[in-house]
Amino acid sequence: MIMDEKEVLEALKKYREMDLKYEDGRILGSMCTKPHPISRKISEMFFETNLGDPGLFKGTKKIEDEVIHMMGNFLNNDNPFGYIISGGTEANITAMRIIKNLSIKKERLPKVIVPETAHFSFEKAREMMDLEYIKPPLTNCYTMDVKYIKDYIEDNNKNDNKKIDGIVAIAGCTELGTIDNIKEISKIAEENKIYLHVDAAFGGFVIPFLEEKYKMDNYNYEFDFSLNAVSSITIDPHKMGLAPIPAGGIIFRDSSFKKYLDVEAPYLTDTHQATLIGTRTGIGVASAWGVMKLLGKEGYKNIVSKCMDNTHYLVKKAKEYGFEPVINPVLNIVALKDDNPSETCLKLRQIGWYVSICKCVGALRIILMPHVKKEHIDEFIGALASVKKN
Ligand code: PLP
Repeated sequence: MIMDEKEVLEALKKYREMDLKYEDGRILGSMCTKPHPISRKISEMFFETNLGDPGLFKGTKKIEDEVIHMMGNFLNNDNPFGYIISGGTEANITAMRIIKNLSIKKERLPKVIVPETAHFSFEKAREMMDLEYIKPPLTNCYTMDVKYIKDYIEDNNKNDNKKIDGIVAIAGCTELGTIDNIKEISKIAEENKIYLHVDAAFGGFVIPFLEEKYKMDNYNYEFDFSLNAVSSITIDPHKMGLAPIPAGGIIFRDSSFKKYLDVEAPYLTDTHQATLIGTRTGIGVASAWGVMKLLGKEGYKNIVSKCMDNTHYLVKKAKEYGFEPVINPVLNIVALKDDNPSETCLKLRQIGWYVSICKCVGALRIILMPHVKKEHIDEFIGALASVKKN
């Protein structure tokens, strides 16, 4: 049935009204948030751009290169190379493509050390590329056991058939926000010449801006290119970077990695394409550029401090009501112990609260994104207490 413009917009508005709104503070289990207001204007300006054919959109391509340099800069890399792509999933799959294409023995499956706490995008990559994952045990801090990795590599690296082709470490894991001991893992990777990818999809826009007062003693927060073996980092502007979706990021130490991703693209203005997705909008690229220019390091620091402040506020409130966190929060993610998280989550949803659950431990997972305010936390803890009483 054909509609006129007014009817189309009215019909769409009705659908849109069914969606939750970040500003209501009920979305407590998402790593996305309300994008910075400037992105509305930028989205309109760039709405027809296509970075899948960068020769046609030279200005937008230049913005992408500049964003990669801006992000490289706060990841301690003066010579970065990379792309603003659809999200952390695409970024992680891209990194796994590199490991696969670099792997030494083509006759066997590439072997990659991947944390138990890794995002499920790595499972998609494993399935698509026939990778073999080795999952080290977790320490009581829910990070990879570094000694296990060291021993595993020492025991297997002499044998080409068993040699490790890549290591994935996480800076801000999805469920708990923990950071693997990437400093030590980098040393092992460097000694054994192993590709190291860091998934900082969430933590990449948090850790560089974390004030000292929020850091725990004896915890390793280093994760970026200042560590010699780190070859690539996933870092998403559409999470804590406040850019609109789609804006994920994959940053490499330098452009030498491009050749492992390139496929021939004979009918485009560029004869090779490295990104997984072909036709891709420039909206995320331009918005990430705009938001980063507006906020600067100081702006992100203020946002991260507010989120961390709210994180500690939630933990304090939760304890007052008898709820215990699984760990002291590392970033702005809280996991509250729960004997039946699926049921609690469902009951909360029925009264309009949207949290998620952890898989690695029985707990509710709450992300203190910038749209969550103290009054929402107060209301939520009250709701949780009432749900647990019934
Ligand atoms: N990596 C981590 C650590 C994440 O937390 C997420 C999403 O939550 C992803 C990757 C995937 O990101 P996206 O949903 O943008 O594809």
